Amino acid sequence: MRIVVSGAAGFIGSHMCDRLLREGHSVVALDNFLTGAERNIRHLTGTPNFEFRRHDVTLPVDVDGGLDAVFHMASPASPKDYLEHPIETLDVGSLGTRQMLELARKHDATFLLTSTSESYGDPHVHPQVETYWGNVNPVGPRSCYDESKRFAEAMTMAYHRTHGIRTNIARIFNTYGPRMKLNDGRVVPAFLDQALQGKPITVFGDGTQTRSFCYVSDLVDGLYKLSRSDERYPVNLGNQREMTIREFAETIQLLMGTNCQIEYHPLPEDDPKQRRPDITKARKLLGWNPVVSLDDGLKATIEYFRNLALCAA
Ligand code: UDP
Repeated sequence: MRIVVSGAAGFIGSHMCDRLLREGHSVVALDNFLTGAERNIRHLTGTPNFEFRRHDVTLPVDVDGGLDAVFHMASPASPKDYLEHPIETLDVGSLGTRQMLELARKHDATFLLTSTSESYGDPHVHPQVETYWGNVNPVGPRSCYDESKRFAEAMTMAYHRTHGIRTNIARIFNTYGPRMKLNDGRVVPAFLDQALQGKPITVFGDGTQTRSFCYVSDLVDGLYKLSRSDERYPVNLGNQREMTIREFAETIQLLMGTNCQIEYHPLPEDDPKQRRPDITKARKLLGWNPVVSLDDGLKATIEYFRNLALCAA
């Protein structure tokens, strides 16, 4: 298959490119490097089935020849990134999704939207199941991301209903692994960086808020399987092992053999108090299940950040 991947130089986008190429597909990769990094796809330069175009996907784009699928993965995704780029975040979820859907329509290609657990906001239903409509503050600091993704989901369903496009919507929960940005503010790179540098680990609030962390290869596997299914409604993808942020800080201390201090900072506005995916639907529909343990995933991620620090030294 020939597949367009938007956000190809991003954390998850670049791993998706690797997977698609490994499966024998051709990839047309798009990214404007707003939050993605050239180094994430540098290893693919010169790969015969890989073509990169520096492109802002909020603008029209066309691809010569046949196209079988469009994976729309472009968006700032860390709270720090989308708070820095709120308008670009809203644009890529709205205008960008429209452009990518148009591309799929023109080529009669399938379309995969990578949406988010943020669609549920600060949830009142736990664990989050796809039928829950969410609890989103439409005017809070996180709304640029939450609402752009909710809009993207609505636009995707509208294209499916109006034009019959074969669409899929994934709701991605917290994901981690190599190629995350060290300074994107998210809890995994933030804690690892702090522990590597022997600095205090910064827990926001009292650390009782919960998250569930999925390793990137598991997530990409779920996305790939979903892209081959006929399910049009959203499907949660994430790991079900839930832990408090304080427990997570202690796990990092243990794994890295450091006893660096834990420092408490104010909780950001609208920070969801609990998050864990109900993945019953993905299990039944796709036969998918995360298989990488938190320890193994964190070890691989720590190694990546250690090498990055060595290269920078
Ligand atoms: N967090 C923290 N310290 C940090 C960064 C994040 O305690 O240095 C917390 C944050 O408040 C949130 C959780 O970790 O409750 C996950 O945050 P992240 O930014 O990774 O993503 P989110 O799940 O909020 O989108």
